[in-house]
Amino acid sequence: MEHSGPASSSQSVSAVLAEHGYRITSPRQVVLSTVLGRDRPFTAEQIVAEVKALEPGVGRATVYRTLEILASVDVLTRFLQADGHPAYIVGTPGHRHHLVCSDCGSVVAFTSCPVDELVRDLSRDTDFTIDGHLLEVFGRCPTCRAGQSSAGATSLPN
Ligand SMILES: [Zn+2]
Ligand SMILES: [Zn+2]
Repeated sequence: MEHSGPASSSQSVSAVLAEHGYRITSPRQVVLSTVLGRDRPFTAEQIVAEVKALEPGVGRATVYRTLEILASVDVLTRFLQADGHPAYIVGTPGHRHHLVCSDCGSVVAFTSCPVDELVRDLSRDTDFTIDGHLLEVFGRCPTCRAGQSSAGATSLPN
């Protein structure tokens, strides 16, 4: 599915949303301007807190719903963090997977899909129609490794 170019500006995102039949209400606009332009992953709760500081009238449900809408039109990509909780990153459309740093949450997206062949085999062997899959890869980024050079510390504090 092709969308009209990278949806990086508020204006082009509004166009994408309109194209999918979503109205740009003013609460959605607040969420939109809060998330766009971020180059780091973020959680819905982070956005709830920031939106609340800007516009106390915008509720948590609206933030969650808006983020899901933005993910559904490929403006955001939803992925799972190492702790299993979902997070979002502003991303270009398309099928992609993510390498996530378990410490700081930084994300590297990669477009090559190592699961394609497995999915084809599974579909053939089981006669399932397969709609999609998720794959996240977890590790520790160079910055975090440099800051924690002691070997063998693999457990997270939670
Ligand atoms: Zn890191
Ligand atoms: Zn894939």
